[in-house]
Amino acid sequence: MYGIREELAAELEGIRAAGLWKAERELIGPQGASVGTAGGDALNFCANNYLGLADHPEIIAAAQSAMDEFGYGMASVRFICGTQTQHTALEREIAEFLGMDAAILYSSCFDANGGLFEVLLGPEDAVISDELNHASIIDGVRLCKAVRYRYRNRDMADLEAQLVTARGAGARRVLVVTDGVFSMDGSFTPLDAICSLAERFGALVMVDDSHATGFVGPRGRGTPEQFGVVDRVDIVSGTLGKALGGASGGFIAARSEIVELLRQRSRPYLFSNAVAPAVVAGSRVALRLAAEADEGRARLRENAALFRSLMESAGFDILPGEHPIHAVMFPGEDGARLAKAMSEEMLRHGVYVIAFSFPVVPRGRARIRVQLSAAHSADDVRACVDAFVAAREAVAGAEA
Ligand SMILES: *Cc1c(COP(=O)(O)O)cnc(C)c1O
Repeated sequence: MYGIREELAAELEGIRAAGLWKAERELIGPQGASVGTAGGDALNFCANNYLGLADHPEIIAAAQSAMDEFGYGMASVRFICGTQTQHTALEREIAEFLGMDAAILYSSCFDANGGLFEVLLGPEDAVISDELNHASIIDGVRLCKAVRYRYRNRDMADLEAQLVTARGAGARRVLVVTDGVFSMDGSFTPLDAICSLAERFGALVMVDDSHATGFVGPRGRGTPEQFGVVDRVDIVSGTLGKALGGASGGFIAARSEIVELLRQRSRPYLFSNAVAPAVVAGSRVALRLAAEADEGRARLRENAALFRSLMESAGFDILPGEHPIHAVMFPGEDGARLAKAMSEEMLRHGVYVIAFSFPVVPRGRARIRVQLSAAHSADDVRACVDAFVAAREAVAGAEA
């Protein structure tokens, strides 16, 4: 390999030396409120399993019987021979659930975001993106030829300034794109303010609601519902890989012309395999369960409120907000090491959480991210807080 192996080995060593190595922990068995690990069972507070549907028996049964009825794989993209009755049914159901005209399925939300912008925007257009948007939006925007503008996270004055600039530069179409929820902070974007600004400047609004679909908003319709702007948002992208059963697949729901154009032109849709029959069948049930999950959403809210109040009483520093994602902060120079030591100690207490540090979050802003689920009991939440307290003592003791 002409020395390339040595170069790659050095690069890998660099990643390790910088403390950025991501090791994968193998789970023994299914995803759930509690998971099996080599070190024993652990309460899981790091999954996107917000409604606890990842191991739901009805979803599993639907996926199993779909294999008998619809087979294992499609061996085709959608427009050749990869569209079953249930693919179009799921698309209709997603659109209906979100209150949008139509929806189109992708293999993942990453693909959905990757295949959107280039279809809608050319060199004469502009895209204005929140600086903290998900990697798939950043990559999707890179693939289109529109002029790119960025605004500071959730900063409406800066968004307005970028809109003024884009319009001043004579852009034909302008698209504002944002995550509905920023997953490292658990913060909501002010979607109502974004819609108002976009309307003033004749811009389209797109929201990636991956961390919201199914559980944010009174009926789980996501951030557009939460902010009362369902009919003012033009495009919603989302995933089937988080609250909606957690398997895989993504979608775009939008005005019908947009969805029709994506079916004709969107490259990840045209050139990648159809979503597997079992996943489609499971996702349809997951969507129905999510639509009916008033109780689950209430439990999720209660768990989140309980966690926040117990953690604040115990003196931990949590970013403000009402989302089930909680960023427990370990600021300063030593924060990254501290957060990591805490998370490792917590696993010894049977609680699985993950520490994040630079470059995933800004330098000096290390944190442990805790994600609540409707599958957690109040006792699970208390056990998590107890593990935080015990780990803090153990880590402080080890350093004394
Ligand atoms: C998880 C996530 C994605 C990726 O979804 P997949 O379906 O797993 O590809 C995209 N955007 C946001 C905001 C996400 O949180």
